[in-house]
Amino acid sequence: MNTINLQTIVLVIIMDRVSPEKRSEVMSSVKSKGTKLEHFFAEKLKEKGLDYCKRNVKELTGRPDFVFEEAKIVIFIDSCFWHGCKQHLRMPASNQDYWTAKIARNHKKDRQVTKQLKQEGWLVLRIWEHALKNPKMLKWWLTRIKNLAENRKG
Ligand SMILES: [Zn+2]
Repeated sequence: MNTINLQTIVLVIIMDRVSPEKRSEVMSSVKSKGTKLEHFFAEKLKEKGLDYCKRNVKELTGRPDFVFEEAKIVIFIDSCFWHGCKQHLRMPASNQDYWTAKIARNHKKDRQVTKQLKQEGWLVLRIWEHALKNPKMLKWWLTRIKNLAENRKG
């Protein structure tokens, strides 16, 4: 088990035991900190010479994790748990209604954000947490992003 999964599990246990008010407080603190995954991916982009992108751009819909302005590309890193990856989501044993609804809301919001950004002319890339943890998939994404970033500069 790696750190990220362990953190998620601990978080799920905490969230199961606290009031709804406390839950949303915990949730927003988790979001504002940014994830370790993002930092990891930022390092990889840097190694690939792609660190000129902007991070956590508040001015754009959905506050994308990475933005290549000139190439009009936005990238979101989606955690398997919070964004409801069908392969890896393991529903906690308790409060299932809460978690099902929460994850469904996230999923719906992701789709709306993607749609909105596309309408604004952005290429939207969503990268699953599990893709970052798989060296082959990670390499594929980095190559793809490099090509897209260079070819779409105009
Ligand atoms: Zn996954």
